Amino acid sequence: MGRLQGKTALVTGGTSGIGLETAKLFVAEGAKVAVTGLDPERLETTRAELGPEALVFGADVSDRQAMETVAARIRETWGHLDVVFANAGVFRAAPIERMDEATMDLLLGTNFKGVVHTVQATLPLLAPGASVIFTSSAVDSKGYAGMSLYAATKAAVRSLARSLSAELVDRGIRVNVVAPGAIETPIWGRTGLPQEVVDGMAAGIKDTNPMKRFGKPSEIARTVLFLASDDSSYILGQNLYVDGGTQAL
Ligand code: NAP
Repeated sequence: MGRLQGKTALVTGGTSGIGLETAKLFVAEGAKVAVTGLDPERLETTRAELGPEALVFGADVSDRQAMETVAARIRETWGHLDVVFANAGVFRAAPIERMDEATMDLLLGTNFKGVVHTVQATLPLLAPGASVIFTSSAVDSKGYAGMSLYAATKAAVRSLARSLSAELVDRGIRVNVVAPGAIETPIWGRTGLPQEVVDGMAAGIKDTNPMKRFGKPSEIARTVLFLASDDSSYILGQNLYVDGGTQAL
């Protein structure tokens, strides 16, 4: 029997990278899965990859009403949710004096408000035993030049998880965070930076990583599966670094 047999799960940002890999693993483990994303082509390919039972929504996490609509459709279809993986996110890097307001709004709206909206919209669907997981980042607790705003959104998400853990524990809902190190996903092609700058960053990251490599989306997906399932039933309010040892060594 699958580790999520008969369960229902929502994965925001489930059309690419970490979210898509996790959604596929959830399906393989017996869950019914709903995903959100924005890009119409990726929504279509995800539909094909996840199969006919999956619910695939074009919905912007920074738009509270869009997330309410997603929650309403899930309620109509399944009635409840067992797992929420609030994962949708964007990465932009720039020195602070070049960080314009539109980029700041994009980072805060997607990476922070998006997580809040996801929780607010889905909370009425969560029953005792439900698991909520946020995607933060290993940059949440270290200083990296050029990443000030991105890192701040991820630290905010980590803080949010602690407070919500306290707020929701009496309702039997667990909230935890997965904090990936650098992972091989399409996000690195969507930074807005010139390719040679991204290549330089990637080389530096590999060099300083104890394992000398990027992580794979499947390595995050398996961690999220653990946090989503009853295998982690006594784990609450935690931030789990999956980063090849960068934070610890
Ligand atoms: P990715 O491949 O670019 O996937 C991002 C996903 O988020 C896509 O499905 C994207 O949808 C969706 N998304 C972006 N903005 C959205 C919005 N406003 N509303 C709804 N969906 C939206 O990136 P990834 O690497 O898998 O990143 C997933 C999460 O991991 C992010 O929170 C990221 O910050 C975090 N993370 C990544 C790394 C890494 O090295 N890859 C490291 C640490 C943390 P569309 O494709 O349709 O736009």
